Amino acid sequence: MLNSVFDCEVLIVGAGPVGLATALSLLAQCVNVRIIDDMPVRHATPRASSIHARTLELLAPFGVSDRLVAYAQPIRQTLFFDVQGQEILRRQLRAIDSQYPAQQSLQQGHAEWMIAEQLLARGVDVQATTRCTDLVQNAEGIVVTVESDAGTSALRCRYLVGADGARSTVRKLCDVRMVGEDYPERWIVGELVIEHTGVLTDTHILFGPDRPALTFPLDGAIMFFTILRAGELPEAQPGPANPDHVLQMYYATFGAYPRLAHRVPDVPWSGHFLMHKCCLFDGFNWTLILTVPDRTAVRTAYIRQLDLAALVWLNARVRIVLAVGDAFAWNAHRPTLYVVRPDGYIAFRCDAAAGQLPDVNRLSAWLIENFAGSLRTDSVAP
Ligand SMILES: Cc1cc2nc3c(=O)[nH]c(=O)nc-3n(C[C@H](O)[C@H](O)[C@H](O)COP(=O)(O)OP(=O)(O)OC[C@H]3O[C@@H](n4cnc5c(N)ncnc54)[C@H](O)[C@@H]3O)c2cc1C
Repeated sequence: MLNSVFDCEVLIVGAGPVGLATALSLLAQCVNVRIIDDMPVRHATPRASSIHARTLELLAPFGVSDRLVAYAQPIRQTLFFDVQGQEILRRQLRAIDSQYPAQQSLQQGHAEWMIAEQLLARGVDVQATTRCTDLVQNAEGIVVTVESDAGTSALRCRYLVGADGARSTVRKLCDVRMVGEDYPERWIVGELVIEHTGVLTDTHILFGPDRPALTFPLDGAIMFFTILRAGELPEAQPGPANPDHVLQMYYATFGAYPRLAHRVPDVPWSGHFLMHKCCLFDGFNWTLILTVPDRTAVRTAYIRQLDLAALVWLNARVRIVLAVGDAFAWNAHRPTLYVVRPDGYIAFRCDAAAGQLPDVNRLSAWLIENFAGSLRTDSVAP
């Protein structure tokens, strides 16, 4: 029971991946939680671009992992190239015995808004443009000074979580020193939109003559990393990179090998989603299952259409699962969309026309017909 002295049981400062996941986990344990962040919106600049199996396993109980996977690009393999641009090693990445066996490529910003949406669905909104500037601890709890557009105010909480990143204000206010030091190398990172005919699924690592360079596949783009040599681009400062600098470094590394630059995989990948390991029906969420012969047929924009249609009418209690390969052969002759009720029964099925994906308008029409009368606009938490 929350004492009226407190504004919340736990205040989380920082809505990056650590703060958001902490909030989700505490909510699942019925803890009264608030989360603030000094940014007006989530970061749009490229940051982490991959999610690993263990992270997804840890987020799965909170109903967010299947949605993350539905939006992500599975990474099929990592290819290593030598100084001549010859392939020297190929490492398949689907060997982990996990419900989420593939490494998934997904921009950190996308993952953050999906977790934030999940929080919102459970009644907690990130309080944006709200900066923690000071704190005082006493025997009962903590009084935190915050600054926002509304001015300066105090938030009282029993516990405070400092999830405000590498330069954490909370850490400094608690007088905790950062142990260690920065690496001397300067990295430059950028997201490059490229023209291609399929969906990219490979990571490339190039051991060039004077530095390594890496690309990760994204939806319609690649994430590019390389190290700047000493004295190179002296005007480049920590923070958002100049796009011209990113392109210049891309051409200086992968661009020097025409066979590697803006490269398209030879064959489409038909991976296997391990249906039998996946607990699809959890008694709380509705599940949208899209069965497809291979992942390359599905673009993020299509998933987004499905997600938006379902989020509105199913009160955000919705998970999206891509059933690739095995499941396709198991149950459908064409790409098929199922809506599965929280109790595990199929409520709706829509087969695709030849050569197409299931029509999202048919899903919307069915949702409207069945849920228009029951749409709730208040909290969706059970
Ligand atoms: C260019 C780049 C590339 C990266 N690539 C990778 C990668 O490939 N793989 C990988 O694993 N990691 C990568 N990272 C690191 C990854 O982004 C961080 O590890 C991750 O963001 C840390 O998460 P966090 O939640 O601890 O902190 P953050 O994501 O930094 O979030 C902290 C939040 O707190 C807010 N905040 C700060 N101070 C206050 C305050 N006083 N009051 C309120 N809010 C505050 C900030 O605005 C921010 O939103 C990369 C980082 C960068 C910059």
